[in-house]
Amino acid sequence: MMLSFEDTPVTQKTQHAEPLGRLSDDETDASLQRVRAEDKRVINGMADVNQLVPFKYKWAWEKYLAACANHWMPQEINMSRDIAQWKDTTALTEDERRIVRRNLGFFTTADSLAANNIVLGTYRHITAPECRQYLLRQGFEEAIHTHAYQYIVESLALDEGEVFNAYHEIQSIRDKDEFLIPFINTLTDPAFTTGTHENDQRLLKSLIVFACIMEGLFFYVGFVQILALGRQNKMTGAAEQYQYILRDESMHCNFGIDLINTIKLENPQLWTAEFREEIRGLMRRGVELEYRYAEDTMPRGVLGLNAAMFKEYLRFVANRRCQQIGLEELYDNANNPFPWMSEMIDLKKEKNFFETRVTEYQTGGALSWD
Ligand code: FE
Repeated sequence: MMLSFEDTPVTQKTQHAEPLGRLSDDETDASLQRVRAEDKRVINGMADVNQLVPFKYKWAWEKYLAACANHWMPQEINMSRDIAQWKDTTALTEDERRIVRRNLGFFTTADSLAANNIVLGTYRHITAPECRQYLLRQGFEEAIHTHAYQYIVESLALDEGEVFNAYHEIQSIRDKDEFLIPFINTLTDPAFTTGTHENDQRLLKSLIVFACIMEGLFFYVGFVQILALGRQNKMTGAAEQYQYILRDESMHCNFGIDLINTIKLENPQLWTAEFREEIRGLMRRGVELEYRYAEDTMPRGVLGLNAAMFKEYLRFVANRRCQQIGLEELYDNANNPFPWMSEMIDLKKEKNFFETRVTEYQTGGALSWD
């Protein structure tokens, strides 16, 4: 198990291949093998990935604990009111129904893409056990989200073939996914390894696209729309689930940003001027694609929302993502037309906005013993 920090090239991540049962020759060797927090790295780390402690990345561990405390399951939410509204031809307008169908069309497959990206991609390349611990939780949350969308589709008896194939068949959804797929493929390609300047930049780029554009931008038109329905007392069961999903996703995005910033800190050579410009270009492209999706889901104004408000909102969100990873903002004077969205993100589970139920889901891990 002895790993030399001098002799092993960083491209060779051999720690998994070492036989776990082999003991070292003497106690000095044994103590040298113990993982020291300072030897941990988020990428290309040489310390044993099986040792969660000693902690180095406390922020990742704390997010893992917070995510567990936020645990929820879709079937806890009563859908009977939504079902009655969906059946009632006067309860929802055609434009409101279009929003629900398009939303589910995008999200049913988006969270599966996210889960695969984490499990088959990101996880392998991250060498900090604290971050891996969070990624395991995040992967399960993506499964819960896919479950939630399936639960809504089933409850409303929507055409499953139509919803689950929307990412092939609806252009505005397909365009978003086609933008993402090359970046997901980089991480999930079994032949891709980090350890060279070029590949470390490719990894960082994919992590930025995933956290800041997919989870941090592409989800937000849909979140605003469904939560706006809920604020008007429509589809409140679906909206309550979206609220929990928004809270989870906002933590995924924040974890991703911490991960990106830590990789930058540990590998400052990756953050070149050229690289930064490339990322800003990708962010701009993301805003365009999400805006086109907004137009497609809302051909006319609906629920007091219109596509122009989303143009402003997406510029505001993109500026915020840039700022969070240390890039110059892209758009001048972009303001937030939906200030109520921040209340949604911060919402505590016991104080439910839609008051469809008043319960608190507190798991053992969230109880205080003081
Ligand atoms: Fe996510």
